[in-house]
Amino acid sequence: MRRYYDLAILGGGASGLMLAARLDPSVSAVLIEGNREPGAKIAVSGGGRCNLTNAHIGMERYRGDPSFIRPVLKRYDQQWLLEWFRQRGVKTRREKGAQYFCVDRSPAVIRALREAASGVELLNAFRVREVRQEAGGFRLVSERGESLQARRLAVASGGLSFPKLGASAIGLEIAEGTGHRIVRPAPALVGLTLQPAQSFFKSLSGVATEVEIRVRERRWRDRLLFAHRGISGPAVLNASLWWERGEISVDFLPGVDLGLLRSEKKHLSTLLPLPRRAAKAFLEHLEISDGPCRHLNASAWERLEGLHDYRFAPAGTFGYSKAEVTRGGVSTEEVDPRTMESRRMPGLYFVGEVLDVTGELGGYNFQWAFSSAAVCADAVNASMIG
Ligand SMILES: Cc1cc2nc3c(=O)[nH]c(=O)nc-3n(C[C@H](O)[C@H](O)[C@H](O)COP(=O)(O)OP(=O)(O)OC[C@H]3O[C@@H](n4cnc5c(N)ncnc54)[C@H](O)[C@@H]3O)c2cc1C
Repeated sequence: MRRYYDLAILGGGASGLMLAARLDPSVSAVLIEGNREPGAKIAVSGGGRCNLTNAHIGMERYRGDPSFIRPVLKRYDQQWLLEWFRQRGVKTRREKGAQYFCVDRSPAVIRALREAASGVELLNAFRVREVRQEAGGFRLVSERGESLQARRLAVASGGLSFPKLGASAIGLEIAEGTGHRIVRPAPALVGLTLQPAQSFFKSLSGVATEVEIRVRERRWRDRLLFAHRGISGPAVLNASLWWERGEISVDFLPGVDLGLLRSEKKHLSTLLPLPRRAAKAFLEHLEISDGPCRHLNASAWERLEGLHDYRFAPAGTFGYSKAEVTRGGVSTEEVDPRTMESRRMPGLYFVGEVLDVTGELGGYNFQWAFSSAAVCADAVNASMIG
């Protein structure tokens, strides 16, 4: 380990690895990772198959300031990303409509990034406890008391989610310590817990059904999974990115015209397009006794219509231990999207999830991590050479 570098990259996740991979060889850099190996989240992502990106990268999929996010994703878009990995032997396949997954699973992604970053010194198991500003730049001190110095510092330390994979608040502490505003962080892409009024959902643990969830003006049609602790599944995870305290609305019968069932002879529970356990539980909850559809009275049909707009206020979320990402983070107001450099402190950069930019499910978060890192690498290269 040297003691002085041009650039220290704090965090060996998606963004830190991509930044290291794109640095000019003339830049003396160190990639610092608290875990024994870099890329822990890439390894578990997408069920081990890493959903790298999406064919439709649109601003509506991100929570954050579009005027900050757009130029970054335009400069390094999904075609660039897919081509970058393709050239390094990583095959991807488009699935579920528009999501790109890694055919050879996540280790292939980590391998490609590590190979491309091999010109940068990798310092594993160096968990940064403190960063001090010094005359020559920044001093990073590990939990074991080792230290190193760098002229510039790129904070690529991610969010607060999944602490068991190495997450820490160091990025937010550095930002706060240098006068940056922090947008209140919260777990996102996470399941939601329930109030007592919805405790009957718990009896459905393990059941999945297609729904449409609405949070204010946004809506997602996808699966909802009843879980022991509350509700989860892709529709809920996406909704959690936008949910603030208050009500959400779930359409448990998306696209179903109940009027068409009214004259049917068959029992309601067999005709409702819901998993059988869910149909029974909802009928019980709505105090409707099952029977031939044509024998149901108007009030029962009215209550059933309520399943198109079932409103309730979740109690909270499953928390950081289960959240795929953290929303909020370092405010983008004081970061330049052309360079990812702090406007408050020259030589300090922020990339990836530590920033107040969070995407929905579908590859949007890796795209952000990789694109922001590529923009930062250009700026560091230009400033070192220039
Ligand atoms: C289970 C799961 C599945 C996911 N699947 C997908 C997916 O398929 N597609 C997608 O787009 N997104 C997915 N995500 C989100 C995606 O992984 C993140 O948004 C992305 O990894 C963020 O990249 P990053 O580089 O900003 O942060 P990270 O990848 O989190 O990297 C930050 C790194 O910094 C290190 N670090 C933190 N603090 C310190 C410290 N004090 N000292 C030293 N090192 C430190 C951490 O150990 C970590 O390696 C998933 C997340 C999870 C948890």
